[in-house]
Amino acid sequence: MKQHIAVIGGGVIGLSTAYALIRAGHRVTLIEQNADVGLGASYANGGQLSYRYVTPLADAGIPRQALRWMLKSGSPVSLRLRADPKQWRWMLSFLSACTRTTNRRNAKVLLQLGLEGQAEMEIWREEGLKGFLWRQPGKLVLYRNEAVFRKAVSGIQNTTLERALSPAECAEIEPAFAHLTPNLAGGIFSPEDEVADSHLFCKALKAALLDAPGFQYLQEKATLAPDTNNTCMLIVGGRHLEADQIVLAAGLNSRKLAAPLGIHLPLYGLKGYSLTLRPLPETLPSVSVTDYDNRVVYARLGDALRVAAMVDIGAEDTSLNPKRLASLRALVRQTLPQASTDHSPDSPWAGLRPATPTGVPIIGRSKCDNLLLNVGHGALGFTLAAGSAVRIAQLVAAVHTDGV
Ligand SMILES: Cc1cc2nc3c(=O)[nH]c(=O)nc-3n(C[C@H](O)[C@H](O)[C@H](O)COP(=O)(O)OP(=O)(O)OC[C@H]3O[C@@H](n4cnc5c(N)ncnc54)[C@H](O)[C@@H]3O)c2cc1C
Repeated sequence: MKQHIAVIGGGVIGLSTAYALIRAGHRVTLIEQNADVGLGASYANGGQLSYRYVTPLADAGIPRQALRWMLKSGSPVSLRLRADPKQWRWMLSFLSACTRTTNRRNAKVLLQLGLEGQAEMEIWREEGLKGFLWRQPGKLVLYRNEAVFRKAVSGIQNTTLERALSPAECAEIEPAFAHLTPNLAGGIFSPEDEVADSHLFCKALKAALLDAPGFQYLQEKATLAPDTNNTCMLIVGGRHLEADQIVLAAGLNSRKLAAPLGIHLPLYGLKGYSLTLRPLPETLPSVSVTDYDNRVVYARLGDALRVAAMVDIGAEDTSLNPKRLASLRALVRQTLPQASTDHSPDSPWAGLRPATPTGVPIIGRSKCDNLLLNVGHGALGFTLAAGSAVRIAQLVAAVHTDGV
C-alpha cells in the first residue's frame, strides 16, 4: 500500500530518502528549514564517493595517535574539552569503539551499505539524474608510514577492487602527486570509486523530486512532539502535518528534534573544513586522492579542486577558524604546490559531520511507531546516502507488510 511519508531535512540524506520513497511510489513531503536544500553539512564536503574506503575513525591506536596530534599545531584532529555532557558521553563511546575488532566489524557494515548505494546511484543516473559533476576516476590513498600502510594492506578484502601500489605505481596512477614518491610507503587504489559535487547532487535531487507526481516541498522548520499510542506528531510552521510515517533525516539537528520524544541520539558534530581551488586545469589531479597521514582529501570537481580535512572535536559551530584554515592551506602548499592559490580565492567552508561514536549511521525504526531514523552519517554521508535511502524505503515497505 502506498503511504504518505514526511521527510525532515533537505541535506543529502533527506533528499536521497525522499527520492527513494518517490521511486517506490509513495507520496512524499520534504521539509527543509533553510532557504534551499544542501546548505548544511552537504554543502562543500570532500566530494568523494568513497564506496570502498569506509574505515571508521574509531580504531585501535587512534587514542594514542590523537594525543600526539593534540601536541602538534596544525594536526588533522583537534580536541577542545568542554563542560558539555554530550561531548563526554560521545567521547567515552568513541573510545570504547577504538578496538581492531570493532573497527573491522563496523567497516564491513559500512562497506556493504556503500556498495548498495553505489549500485543504486548507478540506477538513478541511468534514469536521468544528472548535473552534479559525477565521475569515476578511482580513489588513491597515499601512505607515508610503512607500518600504517602494511596494516591498511592487510585489511584489503578484494584485491581487484582495492590494489596495493608501490610509490612509483602511485605516481603512475596520479602524476600530480609524483613529487611525494620519495616520502611514500605506498598507496591503495580503488579503481571503481567516484567523485561528485554534493551540493549540486542535492539540487539535482530536488529538481527531479519537484517534477515527480506526489511530491511536496515545504520550506519550514519542523518539530516533533509525543502523541498518543506510542506515536509522535509532526509540527510544521506551527501546524500538525498528517503523515503515515515520518523520517527524521535532519543531520546533526536530529539530536535536538528527537529529544522531546525521549530519543537520545548519540550524535556529535565533528567540524571539518574545505577549500575549493581553481588552479590551472592542466595541474589538476584526475584521480581522487586521500593523503592518509594528514587526513586530507583531494577531489577534482569539474574545473575546480575540492580539498577537505580536519576533525575538530569540541567546536560545534561552523565559524571559520583562521588558524585551522591557515594549517589546511599550508598542507595543500606542501602536498600539491601547483594547486596553491595565493592569488585567487579558495572559498573556505566549515561543516559539522553528524557523527555517531562508531561511525555507523542509525538507520531504522525508533521507539515511536511512526518515526524512522536516517541519521549519523558522519564523514561518509554523501557516500552512504543512496544506500541508506534504499534501506529506509525497505523499512517503509516492511511496516506495511507487518501491518503496523
Ligand atoms: C569537511 C567535510 C568533508 C566531508 N567529505 C565527505 C566526502 O568526501 N564524502 C562523503 O561521503 N561525505 C563527506 N562528508 C560528510 C557528509 O558531508 C555528511 O555526512 C552529510 O552531508 C550529512 O548529510 P545530512 O543530510 O545528514 O545532513 P545535512 O546536510 O546537514 O542536512 C540536514 C538538513 O536538515 C535541515 N534541518 C535541520 N533541522 C531541521 C528542522 N527542524 N526542520 C527542517 N529542516 C531541518 C538542515 O537545514 C539541513 O539542510 C564531509 C563532511 C565534512 C564536514
